[in-house]
Amino acid sequence: MDTDLARTWVQAIAAAVDQHKDHLTQLDSAIGDADHGTNMHRGFSAAVTALADYEPDTVGAVLVKTGTTLISTVGGASGPLYGGAFRAIGKALDTPTADTQQVAAALAAGLASIQKLGAAAPGDKTMIDAYAPALTAFQQQADAGADLAAATVAAADAAEEGMRATTPMQARKGRASYLGARSIGHQDPGATSTALVFRALAETLG
Ligand code: ADP
Ligand code: MG
Ligand code: MG
Repeated sequence: MDTDLARTWVQAIAAAVDQHKDHLTQLDSAIGDADHGTNMHRGFSAAVTALADYEPDTVGAVLVKTGTTLISTVGGASGPLYGGAFRAIGKALDTPTADTQQVAAALAAGLASIQKLGAAAPGDKTMIDAYAPALTAFQQQADAGADLAAATVAAADAAEEGMRATTPMQARKGRASYLGARSIGHQDPGATSTALVFRALAETLG
């Protein structure tokens, strides 16, 4: 991965969020406050704008700027959670290029950031339920010597499976947890946007 690829990834996330904005908001209207699509769209549009005239020296600089922009533009829970994750991923990639193992370590730092801030565990029906299996799949591929493209396809597939697995879960974190058992039977909006983030990376590399 290099700086151009990192920027293209953020642009691909913004395009995917634009395309799926109404779906994300519809999922959030069932178990939240119907703003997840709007929140993600505002944040990633602002990130693309912030990166347009930015000349980064490292892969990480692109992702730190993305995270900082998300934190400053998104009001909801997802802003600090995704913003902190992108900042952590970026801080771990303080080099002009990054290989598959470096990206795996950076993605692990991103998950740790989300868990430190949000204190959610797997099974709590959050973005963690897409991110954690994606990271596991990515790391397995990296350890088996796979290239970045193959690792990200495996991660995106695992994220989508994790996203679908949130439907029967009862939410224990975030707004959806206020619904108790009534949160069961709905796919989590944040797990859905996390699957878009990983699929965008796979498509950027493919
Ligand atoms: P808000 O709930 O503030 O309106 P969003 O609608 O943008 O924010 O984001 C909601 C998503 O954020 C949820 O679907 C869930 O995946 C994620 N989320 C909420 N709280 C947490 C948490 N503590 N840890 C991890 N993810 C969380
Ligand atoms: Mg919401
Ligand atoms: Mg909100």
